[in-house]
Amino acid sequence: MAYDTDNIFAKILRGEAPCIKVYEDEHTLAFMDIMPQMDGHTLVIPKQEAETLYDLSETSALACMKTVQHVGKAVAKAMNFEGTTIFQHNGKAAGQTVPHFHFHILPGPIFGAKALKGHAVEFADTDELQAIADKIIACLD
Ligand code: 5GP
Repeated sequence: MAYDTDNIFAKILRGEAPCIKVYEDEHTLAFMDIMPQMDGHTLVIPKQEAETLYDLSETSALACMKTVQHVGKAVAKAMNFEGTTIFQHNGKAAGQTVPHFHFHILPGPIFGAKALKGHAVEFADTDELQAIADKIIACLD
């Protein structure tokens, strides 16, 4: 299917929609999920127009993994949690709601976690998200 240039992450990349950024480089952008499933829920996206994992160029795939490593460690440290859960969906049928490739980084478990909120359900307070982003940024190597 053709890439939808009107999707919200494409708008964020073009600067047409806001985001709470934690990291950016030539090929990737990391920012806070606006409807976090737990505190610290962060997204990593490629700048390439790609809907799923299977549409990524080798350069984007490698760059996304590098950014997930970099940001994921900072998310865990900032949220005082020893591990992370990294996941991503490919296609609407698999539960993908924004058709621009992204990794989710969660500082906690998905399975059996009582504190886990629903997927893309509840908007977080912007000031609280910014405060968490500041902590993550401070923990980046
Ligand atoms: P998916 O369902 O595609 O795997 O995940 C999309 C994620 O994007 C969800 O976790 C949802 O909360 C998040 N999201 C949706 N719209 C926005 C937005 O406008 N800004 C940000 N920062 N996150 C968004």
